[in-house]
This record gives sequence, structure tokens and C-alpha cells, in this order.
Amino acid sequence: MKKGRVFSGARPTGRQHLGNYLGAIRNYVALQQDYDCVYCVVDLHALTTLRETHELRSNTYEMVLDWLAAGMDPSASIIFVQSQVPQVTELHTILSMVTPMGWLMRLPTFKEKVRQQPDNVNYGLLGYPVLMASDIALYKADTVPVGEDQLPHLEFAREVVRRFNAQFGPILIEPQAKLSEVPRVLGLDGVNKMSKSLNNHIELAASPEEIERRVMTMVTDPARRYRTDVGNPDICNVQTLHRLFSGSPERIEEIAHQCRHASIGCVAHKREFARDLANALAPFRERRAELERDPDKVWDILSDGARRAREIATKTIAEVREAVGLP
Ligand code: ATP
Ligand code: MG
Repeated sequence: MKKGRVFSGARPTGRQHLGNYLGAIRNYVALQQDYDCVYCVVDLHALTTLRETHELRSNTYEMVLDWLAAGMDPSASIIFVQSQVPQVTELHTILSMVTPMGWLMRLPTFKEKVRQQPDNVNYGLLGYPVLMASDIALYKADTVPVGEDQLPHLEFAREVVRRFNAQFGPILIEPQAKLSEVPRVLGLDGVNKMSKSLNNHIELAASPEEIERRVMTMVTDPARRYRTDVGNPDICNVQTLHRLFSGSPERIEEIAHQCRHASIGCVAHKREFARDLANALAPFRERRAELERDPDKVWDILSDGARRAREIATKTIAEVREAVGLP
């Protein structure tokens, strides 16, 4: 007997990065044991920001390769593409009728997008959280593994479901967010959340050379300007990430000590981190390369996933239509 149903999704805006892995994918994999899991490539959500829409197909393929190589298992979980189960757009329309505009306009995530793309503040961007609530509600998920950036959306989803149920009866389920142990990974800039669209990320599938190239651009303790300055490892993102990918906690403590006494430089530390990270990700790269030999496999998994997802979606939509009174 499973403990409940999990739903989560990611935008096909590029390959998966360390933030996606630590914040979400690690949980996706772990939850497969005890929960009934539904994992979605949210291509409609990607349309809210993506101009190069012809990239959706290759991005989807690359992302699902990452997921499979990280241990997501299509025989245990449903893995599918959002737009291939169009019932979600119907639920989106219905839920939008119980969503006050004010709730959407005051969400910090919306305000941030307006800042990031002032020339493309589209209606879909405002409705993003309604579509996300629809995804979760359509599959009747009770548990949603996400990174910290998604918490306002989860809270919003709970409120919308509550409002729908109050008006039409207890049809939908109020979901709970599930954070990982590392819910917010900072990007190479050391300030913003690591994000595909900010291009401040390190891809899980990056080659050792690419990893080194990216790591060398990382911002460390900003107060440490010269090699002879002492540093504060507690606020250094290289230190934070290195800790998560090093096989040796003793070495991490040693580096922290050396940083505090200026006996190791940031450049040397970055080289060492890059090497450890490339080693830690080597098994992942190997599994990914193996999967890449059979490109059809990804598309077969996704079409089987869409079929299984549609079975759940059709039932929920029928209940929702009846509750609302649509003829
Ligand atoms: P985009 O920039 O296109 O929005 P993204 O890098 O933010 O891409 P998403 O596809 O939006 O990635 O997010 C997928 C999952 O990964 C979500 O659950 C999200 O909370 C989580 N996640 C994304 N970035 C981070 C991060 N830096 N730290 C922790 N979790 C993250
Ligand atoms: Mg995002």
C-alpha cells in the first residue's frame, strides 16, 4: 500500500542542473519507493517565458535523459509531457474562475518575472500558478516535492483548492510541499537561485572541462579580494556546494580552516571542487550516455506515461465537471 500520490514538474527550458538535482530530483527518486509518483515535463509552463519554442522538443528529450540517468524509473512512476494530457487546460480554466486576481498579482514569483521580462508580461505568466495548481489537482496529488522557490505557488495551490472545494464540494486534494535537505541552491553568482533561465547553473550532464570552466567563474566570499585576504567559508558558495559533492568531510573542514587563514586561495579551491564534482557526477554521465544510445526509448516512455496520466486526468475532470454543473 502506497502512502499517497506525488506530483511534480520541471520546465523544459534546458538540461537539469545541480539546483534541480539537490532541490527536487533527489526527492523524486527517493519518493518512488513509498508513493505513487507522477512526474511531468511542464512544456506549457515553459511557454510563459520561452521565445525559442522550437527548442521544446530537444529540451524535453535532454531533461528526461537527465531524469532517467538520475534514477527516475518509468516502471514505478508516470513520466509524461504536460501538454499531452490536455485536460489540465480545462481544469486551469475552471480553477481560474475561483481565483481572485489579487492573489496572483501579489505573488513574489510574478513580480520577479515582471522585472526579468518587462517586455513580455503575458497573461499566461500571471496565470502560471493556476496552471500549476491544476497540474497538482488533476492528478489528486497530496505531496509535491519542490525547491524553496516554489513554496508561494504551493501555498497558492492549497488556497485555490480550498476555495474550489468550499464552493463545489470536496473533490480536489489540498497538496503539501515537500522540501529536500537542500531546498535552495545558489547560482554561480552566489546571489541568485541557480536557474536555467539565469544561466548561472552547472548542468548535471556537463563534461569535466565544462564543469571546471563554470566553477572557475563562481563568486566566493566577496570580501576576500586578494589571495592574502582571509576568507569566510560560511558564506562561500564554492564551500557550500563542495561539501555536498566531496567524499571527504575532513578535507572540507581542512579547506574551511585554510580559507580562514588565507593558506588556500579561491582558485586552488575551485580547481579541487571542480575535480570532486566531475568525479561525483561520473556515474551519472555514464548512465546518461548509455541511455542516449536509444533515443526512441525516451519518447516511448513519455507516450506510455501520457496514456497512464490521461486515465487519472479523465476521471478527475469528469468529477469536476459534474460538481460544477457543466452539462
Ligand atoms: P527556469 O529558470 O526555466 O524556471 P529552473 O532552473 O528554475 O528553470 P524549474 O524547471 O523551474 O528549474 O524547476 C524544477 C524544480 O527544481 C522545481 O521543483 C524547483 O523548485 C527546483 N529548483 C530549481 N532551481 C532550484 C535551486 N536553485 N535550488 C533548489 N531547487 C531548485
Ligand atoms: Mg523555475
